[in-house]
Amino acid sequence: MARTHRTHITLAHGAGGRLMHELIDSIAMKELDNPVLKEKRDAATVTIGRSRIAFTTDSYVVSPLFFPGGDIGSLAVHGTVNDLAVCGARPRYITLGAIIEEGLDIEVLRRVIRSSAAAARRAGVAIVAGDTKVVEKGSCDKLFLNTSGIGEVYYDGLSLDRVTAGDSVIASGPIGDHELAILMEREGIGFASKVVSDSAPLNGLIARCLAVSGKVRFMRDPTRGGVATTLNEIVAGRPFGIALDERSIPLSKGARSACEVLGLDPLYLACEGRFLMIVARQDAKKVLAVMHRHPLGRSAAVIGETVRRHAGRVFLATVAGGTRLVDMLVGEQLPRIC
Ligand code: MG
Repeated sequence: MARTHRTHITLAHGAGGRLMHELIDSIAMKELDNPVLKEKRDAATVTIGRSRIAFTTDSYVVSPLFFPGGDIGSLAVHGTVNDLAVCGARPRYITLGAIIEEGLDIEVLRRVIRSSAAAARRAGVAIVAGDTKVVEKGSCDKLFLNTSGIGEVYYDGLSLDRVTAGDSVIASGPIGDHELAILMEREGIGFASKVVSDSAPLNGLIARCLAVSGKVRFMRDPTRGGVATTLNEIVAGRPFGIALDERSIPLSKGARSACEVLGLDPLYLACEGRFLMIVARQDAKKVLAVMHRHPLGRSAAVIGETVRRHAGRVFLATVAGGTRLVDMLVGEQLPRIC
């Protein structure tokens, strides 16, 4: 089993957890080695002339193409907008590439592209270049998209080097709804309270937060691998750890009951319209107040703090009164959620 993992790609390599990180470190980081890539940010920040530019790319293979709260077209725009926004950049221009399986209903393609256009308008970005490729039936599943995006960096200095013990960790909203919505749509599972994907553009909300605080240290959107994996990426090799408080982690009603019934840990479920922020404790209240006034941040909460003890690790104070280690996602979760 372990041997298979080392010699061939498994679905677990795409799950956003430890195997994906090992794969990136052992191949991409080695072969493409450069200082910008090494920073492992959601978007690369580079200087062109006198401008600080953020630049990113992402591919989308979500199944099904349409799900409660979104579709592959809007998701592809939101994902790239959010990767720019969490790097303190104003997203400006996006490209859209489509890999289409022979036999796809042209109306499906039209609906998806129309949805991308609407998402771009809402986020204030323009889709200015694109590409289409068609492959034989069976060579891909219906439709895969790729988006790249550039933005202007307007808030410099976001860096994990600036994090100190005692900083606050904020979640911008209820976690896990995106992955649950995909899972339930795909498997045909229904509960009393429906779960709708959180897929949304975060640039507006983030800009408001950054306007009121100069002490935001770092942000990342908890996509694949969820909050647990993202926070582990943040503390890896750092002189601080993170202590989470389970009671304060925002969950939608639907997610709470779905996680209970399905036995899922919401900390490992992907979001597509939430971000985690590390901010100086004295500014946390101010930032939260701004979030609470924005439709995408109404349930934002401080979910923990950075701590000097257990550096490099994430711990959770549980509702039951215990403390447990929260590791990075290991192995496979649901494939093709984004
Ligand atoms: Mg990201």
